[in-house]
Amino acid sequence: MSIKPARTRIAPSPTGHMHLGTARTALYDYLLAKKTGGQFILRIEDTDVSRTVPGAEQEIIDGLRWLGLSYDEGPDVGGPYGPYRQTDRREIYHTHINTLVNGGHAYPCFCTPERLESVRQEQQKRKENPHYDGTCRMLAPDEAARRIATGEKYIVRFKMPREGITIAHDHLRGDIKTENSQLNDYVLLKTDGLPTYHLAAIVDDHEMGITHIVRGSEWLGTFPLHVNIVRAFGWEEPIWIHLSVFLKPSGKGKMSKRDAVDAIKDGHSIFVKDLQELGFTPEGVLNWSALMGWGVAEDDVMTVDQMLERFTIDSLTPSPAAINFQKLDHFNATHIRLFTTDDLAARIKPYFTREGLNVNDAVLLKIIPLIRERLVTLDDCLAFGSFFFKDDVTPAPEDLVAKGLDAKQSAQIAQRAYQILAGQPTISHESCEPPLRAYVEESGLNANQVFGILRVATTGQKVSPPLFESMEIIGREKCLQRIQNAIEILEKM
Ligand code: GLU
Repeated sequence: MSIKPARTRIAPSPTGHMHLGTARTALYDYLLAKKTGGQFILRIEDTDVSRTVPGAEQEIIDGLRWLGLSYDEGPDVGGPYGPYRQTDRREIYHTHINTLVNGGHAYPCFCTPERLESVRQEQQKRKENPHYDGTCRMLAPDEAARRIATGEKYIVRFKMPREGITIAHDHLRGDIKTENSQLNDYVLLKTDGLPTYHLAAIVDDHEMGITHIVRGSEWLGTFPLHVNIVRAFGWEEPIWIHLSVFLKPSGKGKMSKRDAVDAIKDGHSIFVKDLQELGFTPEGVLNWSALMGWGVAEDDVMTVDQMLERFTIDSLTPSPAAINFQKLDHFNATHIRLFTTDDLAARIKPYFTREGLNVNDAVLLKIIPLIRERLVTLDDCLAFGSFFFKDDVTPAPEDLVAKGLDAKQSAQIAQRAYQILAGQPTISHESCEPPLRAYVEESGLNANQVFGILRVATTGQKVSPPLFESMEIIGREKCLQRIQNAIEILEKM
């Protein structure tokens, strides 16, 4: 059976930081388009100009690029259905608004905000859901035209059917039935001449030939409106897919602003840019987000290519997904282990250079096998690898003192270790471990005491990659010099 190529779109509003939910929707859009040989489109929905945040559009573009979800059409790459930014499409919406008004599916409304507010208050008193009372719905078309001609301010509302029910079909949730008496005459065109999301998105999805609308479940509430608008135009309906909602890590309720702040404190985030800055990888973030709302096994490790093999829209699930940051750590660390040495080296090098360290590429390649298993996020490379690129290390004096011993005893151990190592032509695991172990045996010390002093002396820190392998990379001269330095520190204590 041949599958029709899907045209999908991610349609974010540039009103703040790019959210994890946008990344997840974009991923499913991308997978669906690629899987069927179709196109994935970026459309910027910026008709609520008061909420537009400078730089937010660029953040979305950068975020999608970082994630590797390249789109075939979009504001910065163009395409046959442009423009791809809604404020550049005003004329198109006006034409379609006219079509709806002329067809009796929409009407100009002249009610002032003050009047609407008093209507709302009355309804509240009567314990009714707030809705437009339909005053201007009754206006004769020539009366409305006359008032427009006199320059009176107006908006355009959708003339929602009053009787019967609307059946809206969601691909994951089935038929959603709503009594039309429950629906409102929503605003389609605002006083600033720009359309609301409801009109702009529906018009654009049609004009751009979108076949599948994948979006957040927050749009389920106005889904019947959207279906009615499509039907009023007489257009073919796309396939609607409302994704699962994200819940806070406890699973109790939706993520709040407070939860987002807590996540940052904990080294995590629900914003794509933060995740990038925190050292998460696109592979880890995509794998993690893919499984929140896709009914494959929760711990399946997949690259985007592997997702492509398995993806179908039928396997998406509407069940809410709790955001689990431990899983993000797990997927990130797992993908880091799968990168080639060259790839991982290229990804972590900027972290070192940003710290002002001079990175020797040959050394960088050598340390990858030592630190790879220890990295949860890419920036962990600093904690485990900075000392390889430093001329000197500055251990905290108290860290040089071995457990159960004093500074003097520790200095003597360091002195003895220095002699043993200086007697070796090279420093490697093979050459250093046996004589040092023999020293541990004969001295009656324990290995942790001796190796601990050496670790702090040569790496400057208490936790490091394997000691002898690290010392081999640091090099004989530098190791001896660092141990000498440690002896001096200990002797002065
Ligand atoms: N602009 C809407 C948003 O950012 C897009 C919803 C949709 O995908 O239709 O939520």
